[in-house]
Amino acid sequence: MKNYSFILILVSIALGISCGVLFPTQMIAISWIGQLFINLLKLIVLPLIFCALVSAITSIGGMKKLSSIGFYTLSYVLFSVSVAVIIGLVLLNIFKPGVGIPPSLILANAAPIDLKPIPFSSYMLSLFPPNIVAAAARYEIMPIVFFSIVFAIACLSVGKTAHPVIDFFVGLRDALIKMITWLMYLTPIGLFSLLGTAVAEAAIENLLLQSLGGMVLFIFIFLFGLLLQITWQLIVAVIITRKSPKYLISSSSSALLTAFATSSSMATLPVTMMVAKHQQVNEDVARFVLPLATTINLAGTAMYEAVSALFFCQILGFDLSIPAQIGVFITAILAGMGATGIPEGGLITMVMVLRSVNVPTSAIGLLLPFDRILDRFRTMTNVWGDLVCATTVDYLQKKENKKKRRRST
Ligand code: ASP
Repeated sequence: MKNYSFILILVSIALGISCGVLFPTQMIAISWIGQLFINLLKLIVLPLIFCALVSAITSIGGMKKLSSIGFYTLSYVLFSVSVAVIIGLVLLNIFKPGVGIPPSLILANAAPIDLKPIPFSSYMLSLFPPNIVAAAARYEIMPIVFFSIVFAIACLSVGKTAHPVIDFFVGLRDALIKMITWLMYLTPIGLFSLLGTAVAEAAIENLLLQSLGGMVLFIFIFLFGLLLQITWQLIVAVIITRKSPKYLISSSSSALLTAFATSSSMATLPVTMMVAKHQQVNEDVARFVLPLATTINLAGTAMYEAVSALFFCQILGFDLSIPAQIGVFITAILAGMGATGIPEGGLITMVMVLRSVNVPTSAIGLLLPFDRILDRFRTMTNVWGDLVCATTVDYLQKKENKKKRRRST
């Protein structure tokens, strides 16, 4: 990202926040501009995921290389999501923010809220829908990812006759990437409107102040946990790339700020891909790893699910034995990997984690007033994790290639 556009983004954020405070009604009246920005990003995401995966897999070529990149990606995701959950659990055990909060806060909220868990069988069926176009129209990403991977592998195994098909998707991908570069010029306007609207809404509804009370410590602990998660990944990225933390963060800033403004790692994907390109991650690796990581690497979300479950247990005075916490650990990892990178997507899979410790799902109501702001921070953490994942996989892949070359000479 060139310097001037970085400064422009910072100016637009400062302007957005101040206008949100000073002119809340006017900012809400122009909130459609931010929505338009999100729509344009989302418009590109689905075809981009498909074309990026197909072109990356077919150009990576060879099942061996592909499976090694896939293996590195999945290992990284599992590791980072597990570390996130462990950080959350450790912090909650040390600080115990829920102890002393009256259980009536959860029990009084007991009106059922409409966030039903998805049964395992329906989840599996939804991964393989009978109609891929209908799934795309419903914005279901996982089936698209599966379909693209299998489709690309099929193209590879068909060989010569599939070449025009591959060329078509490569051309389509390049055109989509061109559209993203144009869209990036609108980023400052999009961020101005999105952040301004968020600040204006908070100012008008006075939401944050209304029920802050006992939640303050919980919120701080969660944000601190995210900071730790970002920091260890930053250290990994610094060691691997030998670049300064300042460079890594400032060159990622457009993706991080878009994540913060849109609360959606999926909508941010086009920007994340541009950033990875600027950071010189091998393009084929980035095009394979990023769509996949955006779909399953929701470490910030997994941490949120774990800390919330434990927080509620502490409020309700439930047993927090090691087996119970292991249950939270496992379900939070699954919930983080199964959540969708859309605004508040994590709330849906949180039901699963709460069920594992018998906390009533209505407890989520306690989080709702803060969720929109916390969502922004966890989305930022998710996107940062995706970028570090791509950097790490690229590094491991290059190292493996070097080893092979050395062996063959
Ligand atoms: N909004 C998050 C994301 O897009 C998901 C969540 O935690 O709710 O990554």
